[in-house]
Amino acid sequence: MANATAEFRIEQQRKLTGAFPGPKSQELAARRSQVISAGVSSTLPVYVEDADGGIILDVDGNQIIDMGAGIAVTTVGASHPKVAAAVAAQTQRFNHTCFMITPYEGYVELAEKIIKLSPGDHEKRVAFFNSGSEAVENAVKVARLATGRSAVVAFDHAYHGRTNLTMGLTAKAAPYKKGMGPTAPEIYRMPMSYPFREENPNISGKEAAERAILSMEKQIGGDEIAAIVIEPIQGEGGFIVPAEGFLPRIAEWAKEKGIVFVADEVQSGFCRTGAWFASEHEGVVPDIMTMAKGIAGGLPLSGIVGRADLLDAVHPGGLGGTYGGNPVAVAAALATLEVMEEEGLSERARVIEKKFFDALLPLQKEVQTIGDVRGRGAMLAIEFVKAGGKEPDADLTKKIAADCLAEGVLILTCGTFGNVIRLLPPLVMTDALVDDALSVLTDVIRKNS
Ligand SMILES: *Cc1c(COP(=O)(O)O)cnc(C)c1O
Repeated sequence: MANATAEFRIEQQRKLTGAFPGPKSQELAARRSQVISAGVSSTLPVYVEDADGGIILDVDGNQIIDMGAGIAVTTVGASHPKVAAAVAAQTQRFNHTCFMITPYEGYVELAEKIIKLSPGDHEKRVAFFNSGSEAVENAVKVARLATGRSAVVAFDHAYHGRTNLTMGLTAKAAPYKKGMGPTAPEIYRMPMSYPFREENPNISGKEAAERAILSMEKQIGGDEIAAIVIEPIQGEGGFIVPAEGFLPRIAEWAKEKGIVFVADEVQSGFCRTGAWFASEHEGVVPDIMTMAKGIAGGLPLSGIVGRADLLDAVHPGGLGGTYGGNPVAVAAALATLEVMEEEGLSERARVIEKKFFDALLPLQKEVQTIGDVRGRGAMLAIEFVKAGGKEPDADLTKKIAADCLAEGVLILTCGTFGNVIRLLPPLVMTDALVDDALSVLTDVIRKNS
């Protein structure tokens, strides 16, 4: 709870100075369009000058409340002083040696910490990479090698990245795969547990798992599957929390069949859901877990942690990469984990969760277009529908996000149908900012209903 009183460099206050985006941002947008690929787009056309705690300060002096944390990355804020100090100290010693050539202590120390924090007390091993996609790719490589099998299972609404293998694992065609195939072979897609959109609203998590298991048995064969890759709470697909019992049953069946159960915790990990990892909420112990995003206070770092027998099955040189586990990123991660513990950020996530449901559940009763309100910790979502039914309303969702932006609250959307607003603020955000953002959001929803 310490952070509600922590000192920030930037005043933790929403503030708009005039035209939004302002003149300097507009000038930068014009320059950008001459040099940056159209394929790389931005949610908010304002350019950042500084960011701290829950505030992004733009080049025109606007202060925006950040309800996206750079997609669940800046959990400790974008410039936590402890992270900045650790980075500064490390960068004065060495920025790189390549762990595959001349190793260093930080990499080992971070692995020791991750092994302690991750679910299960079995013997584990770790390897570090740069991006979430790379972590997922490597989890699949390890699973294939260790099992001698090739089939990989992913789920409806899944998001696992943008590299060739991971865009194949990702469910949504546009914009992630459209025109950019062929995707990798031996990927099979199975039905997810999506409580709000089940045809039979009474289907239990276990029954939804049996539905997927039957499909896997029939379409692939349990003993042909190397890995089942799943996000314990789905991210880009719509912040979908599977029904209770779904994940444990899938994990149990994977164990029976010798399938490597890979929990992709790239978005849901590191205090985001009110626990170190989302798998913990149902006592699921993954064979391999992927991690990235929140791990290093904003620096690019990812990794896998998993059963020692799986990760040690790989021959020397079979895993790696020039920058994987970069010493500066590792120093940032060590500082980030300390901040998460010292400032009780899992607890902060649960405080934010309570504020969200206190504000949104009553509103859901009032407003016909809120189909579902869900999430865990500070991984929270509102699914919008055409009044009274379940038909997704992506236009309304876009409008609500845009109206919030115009008020200085940065809000992200997601979902297979583009009809979900997701909130994933930095966990160091003050209570006052969380309250302000929620009041802007609820007002905007009311106005648009
Ligand atoms: C963001 C994300 C990825 C991909 O991570 P990158 O760092 O963008 O490559 C993979 N899996 C999940 C669940 C994610 O949210």
